[in-house]
Formats: sequence, C-alpha cells, structure tokens
Amino acid sequence: MIDYHLHTYYSGDSSAMIEEQLNAALDAGIEEVCFTDHIDFDSPGHNFVPAALDKRHEELLKFGGGYKGVRIKEGAEISMAPFKECAENSRSYIAPAQLDFIIGSVHSIFGANVSDPDFYRTKSKHIAYLAYLDTIRASLPDYGFISVLGHYDFVAKYAPYHDRSMSLTLSNDINAAFADIFKSIINTGKGIELNTAAWRGAPHWGLDILKLYRSLGGEFITFGSDAHSSDALGDRLDEAYALVLEAGIPYYATFDRLVPTFHPIKKR
Ligand SMILES: [Zn+2]
Ligand SMILES: [Zn+2]
Repeated sequence: MIDYHLHTYYSGDSSAMIEEQLNAALDAGIEEVCFTDHIDFDSPGHNFVPAALDKRHEELLKFGGGYKGVRIKEGAEISMAPFKECAENSRSYIAPAQLDFIIGSVHSIFGANVSDPDFYRTKSKHIAYLAYLDTIRASLPDYGFISVLGHYDFVAKYAPYHDRSMSLTLSNDINAAFADIFKSIINTGKGIELNTAAWRGAPHWGLDILKLYRSLGGEFITFGSDAHSSDALGDRLDEAYALVLEAGIPYYATFDRLVPTFHPIKKR
C-alpha cells in the first residue's frame, strides 16, 4: 500500500513532524509515502504560507529517499481556483523544487472556504456539492502541471447534512459535472486520487463515481489518507483499494520526478 497524500508541519494546518509521519507509515505497513504539503494561493480565511519546499527537501535529504524500508517521495498539494493568476503563482512557486508528484485540489469556492461551516448554512446538499464540482471543472484547464485531481469529494468532508455521502445519484447535474471533470482529466493524461479523509465517521462511498471514471477511460488512481497528524495516516486505505478493484480501475500509480509508474490493482 502507498499513501500519496500526507501533510507535515510545512503545511499551515499541520504540526506533524516528518519522522512522526514516517513512523506511523511504518506501523501502518505503508511501503511508499509522498509528502504533499499545501501550496495555497487561494485560501480565504486561512492565509497559509506556502510550504517551504526547499527547507523540507533539505530535511528529507538525511533519510536518503527511505526510512526503515518506507520509500519517501516529495510532492505538493496545490489549491486550485478558476483564475489564471492563482495557477501561475502556484506553478512558478513549485518550479524550482523538482517534485515527484503534484495534487491539484479545490478548497474554496468564490472566496468561501469549504471547511467553514458558514459555507453550508445557505445551501442544500445538492447546491453545495454542485458548486464544488463546478469549481473543479472551471479550474482544471489552467492546471496542466498537476499529476492528479485531489479529493473530488472534499465538500462532503465538512458538510453538516445527515447523509454527507457524495454520489452520482444526487442529480443529473452532479453526474454531468463528474463526467466533464473526468473527461478533462483523462484527455490530458492525468489521474485522480481516492482520498479517504471525507469518510471519517461514516461508511465509505464512491463506487459509482469510480465506475464512471473507469467507463470514460480512466486507467489509474492514487491513494491518500490526507493525514495532517500521525493517527490518521493510512486510514482506511484497505477499503479504498477494495473499492478501486471493484470499480475495475486497472492501475494505481506512484511517481518519480512527475513520471508515473503503473502498478496493477489485483485481488489480494
Ligand atoms: Zn486538500
Ligand atoms: Zn491535503
């Protein structure tokens, strides 16, 4: 198993030490991790300082690419927004870093942070979720440099609704938005990640979404627990793997200097 979505104290919303995360990976039986600290040029209400990738690289050098058998990769999670300036700021910020892997994620919608409970106060579930997907759809064309789309169901993570689950069955609009997003991803040779963080405290969801991705030609996925602290590292990745297998997606990917290696998803 791999965990390709992890944060450390280089992210504005995490205080996890690198070694602490690596020990948790070792305990969870993770073979390869990728640190994906926030590069956030669109974070209303948060004002995150973008991760100091050069300092993190220096700190990681002492491990020489591995920690007691856990392989270590250097990545970033870029916040996407539908205006070119945000994309350009992110792209030029990461350019000198020689990263292995880049996640592109939407965290805010027209200046409203999705992790803020106020965002949901005036919206039905359908409207809130569609607004999130619309923002992804509108942002993607400017983010040709990402490796995968991050947490397509992030809006469900903080939602106050009794049933938070994301599903194509919510409406035809939701279905169409996912189809557009996946076509755009697939046509540009990118992938999606399956992020387990939104499931916390609920049964998993997403089989119908993953099946749609596959039916449109999606061939690979990455796995991430999005752990901001060591207790969440590797959380429910076994369930995620089983779901991807059931959806018929043939590969998961690992990355080295932005070049993917594909590994078959097999029954185990
Ligand atoms: Zn994120
Ligand atoms: Zn994250």
